[in-house]
Amino acid sequence: MSHVLAAVAWPYANGPRHIGHVSGFGVPSDVFSRYMRMAGHDVLMVSGTDEHGTPIQVQADSEGLTPRELADRYNRVIVEDLHGLGLSYDLFTRTTTGNHYQVVQDLFDGLYRNGYIIAKTTLGAISPSTGRTLPDRYIEGTCPICGYGSARGDQCDNCGNQLDPEQLINPRSRINGETPEFVETEHFFLDLPAVAEALAAWLDTRDGWRPNVLRFSRNLLDDLQPRAITRDLEWGVPIPLEGWRDRSDKRIYVWFDAVIGYLSASIEWARRSGDPSAWKRWWSADGEGKDAGAYYFMGKDNIVFHSVIWPAILLGYSGQGARGGAPGDLGSLNLPTEVVSSEFLTMEGRKFSSSRQVVIYVRDFLERYDADALRYFIAVAGPESQDTDFTWAEFLRRNNDELVAGWGNLVNRSISMAAKNFGEIPPALDLTPEDEALLAVAKAGFRTVGELIEKHRQKQAIGEAMRVVAEANKYLSEQAPWKLKDAADKARMGTILHVALQVVSDANTLLTPFLPHSAQKVHELLGGTGTHAPMPVIEEVDDLDGGPSYPVLTGDYSVGARWESVPIEAGRALAAPKPVFRKLDPSIVDEELARLGS
Ligand SMILES: [Zn+2]
Repeated sequence: MSHVLAAVAWPYANGPRHIGHVSGFGVPSDVFSRYMRMAGHDVLMVSGTDEHGTPIQVQADSEGLTPRELADRYNRVIVEDLHGLGLSYDLFTRTTTGNHYQVVQDLFDGLYRNGYIIAKTTLGAISPSTGRTLPDRYIEGTCPICGYGSARGDQCDNCGNQLDPEQLINPRSRINGETPEFVETEHFFLDLPAVAEALAAWLDTRDGWRPNVLRFSRNLLDDLQPRAITRDLEWGVPIPLEGWRDRSDKRIYVWFDAVIGYLSASIEWARRSGDPSAWKRWWSADGEGKDAGAYYFMGKDNIVFHSVIWPAILLGYSGQGARGGAPGDLGSLNLPTEVVSSEFLTMEGRKFSSSRQVVIYVRDFLERYDADALRYFIAVAGPESQDTDFTWAEFLRRNNDELVAGWGNLVNRSISMAAKNFGEIPPALDLTPEDEALLAVAKAGFRTVGELIEKHRQKQAIGEAMRVVAEANKYLSEQAPWKLKDAADKARMGTILHVALQVVSDANTLLTPFLPHSAQKVHELLGGTGTHAPMPVIEEVDDLDGGPSYPVLTGDYSVGARWESVPIEAGRALAAPKPVFRKLDPSIVDEELARLGS
C-alpha cells in the first residue's frame, strides 16, 4: 500500500459550477481516487472553494454583500453540487478558514526567510481627488493584449491574462471616472528565476508526463520573471511581516493563497482526524511521506500553476533553489508526481458562458438526470485529451444506447431470468469453453482497466469495461438460456445464468469508480449487503481556529469493494430487479436546446 494524494483544482466561489467545470477534473479525479482506494492505496483527496481575490470582492460590492457573505453562499452551493455527483473527497473545504490563513502565512514566512520572496517597488494607482489608494478592481481600461475595453486592473476577463493596473490603456476609476495617478508602492514577488535551475532539474525527472505538459512547462523556464504575490486589495490573507500584518490595503494575491490550499486542506484533514501530523504521510519529502505519490488534476488553463509555480514555492520553501536555505516549519515538502490536465468542454459547439446562458449548471442537471448518466458521459466522451463538445443528442444516445441498452440491459435480463426461474443465484455445473472464455474476459478486465486508470486514460478504461459488458450480452444472445425450457435443460440454464451473473458482478466492480451510485444498486440487486461504493457526506463543522462554522464534504472510504473478482454465491436469494438506469425520451433534446440562450 502506498500513499496517494489526489489534489483537485479549487473551484472559484463566485457562482454555481457548470458541467464544463466538473468534466475536466472533478469527475476524473474521483474516478482515479476511487480506483486507487479499491486497489489498496491510502488515498487523500482534497480540495475546496477558492474565495479570495478581486472578482469576489467586485461581485459582492455589486450585490451589497461582504465578500465573505458571497463566498459563504457559493461555497455551500458548490459543496452540494459536488456531493450530488458523488465526488469522494476526504476533505473539501475552503480558503477562508483560520487553518488556511495560518498555512499560507507559514509558507510565506519560510520562502521569505530563505530569500525567495523579494520586495519590489512598483506603480500603484491612487485617486487624484482623494489621494487614497485605488484598489485594482476599481480601475478599468483597455486591455493591452486583446484590446477589450473593460479590462480590470488585475485581469482581463476577455482574454484571461493577468495585468497590472498601469498596463491598461486609458485607465479610469470605476468610482468617479477620473484618470488615476500612478505612484510608487511596494509589493512582494516570488523570485522564480532563483528556482529556475532547480525546476529544470526536477522537470527532467518527470518522464511519465504527457509530452505537451512537459514541453509547455520547460518553455516557461526560459523566460521566468519574479511574480507578484501581493496586491492592493482588502480581501485576502494578510502579509505576515512586521509592519505589513496590520495594513488593510495590501493582501496576499489570491493565486498564491489558493495553490497552497492543497497543503492546508491536507493539514486541516489531519487536524480533524485526531492525528494532527497525519498529513505528513502524503507530504513530508524526507520523512514518512517520501514514497507518496502526488497527483494534481486541473484544466489546461491552470497547468502553469501546478507544473511550475507551485513546485517553485515548494522548492523555495524546502530550501532547494539557487539561494539555498533550510526547510520551513512544516519540513521539506513533496513536489507533484503528475500534473493531469484536461482540455475544455464546449456546449453545443459554443463556449460555456453564464452571461449568455450557454450553460448547464450541475444543480439543474442533477434535478433532471441521474448523476451516473453525467458521469458516464464524461468518462466516455469527456475532454480528457482534446477539446470536446457536449451535445444533448449525444448525451441522449450515450445514455439510451450504451448505459441503458448495454449495461442496464445485461443487469436486468440476467437477474430477472435467474429470479424468475430459480429465485436465487443458481449453481454453475459443467463449464463449457464458451463459459470459461467469458469468465476469463471479465477477470482480465481488472488488470487492463486498472492500468489504464493509473495512466489517466479513463476513456479507454471505461471502453474496456464496457467491452466486457458487450461480450456478456453477446454470450447471452448466443447461449439463449430462455430457450432451455425443458426440465432436462434446467441445469444448463442455471450454469449460463451463473456465469452471466458472475460477469455482471465483475463488470460492476470494473465500473464502480465511474458509476458509483448505480454500482451500489447493482451490488444490492445481486443480493449483496453493506457498502459497495462509499459516498461522501456533507458535515457542518466548526472552524478549528475560532472562525464561523461551514459545510465540508468528507466521508469514510475505508469500506467498500476491492479491485478484484469476488465469486458470487450460489443459493443467494434474488428478486426481480427494478431498472438501474432511466431511458430518456428523445424529446429532452429539443426541451434542453430551448433552454439554451443565444
Ligand atoms: Zn485582454
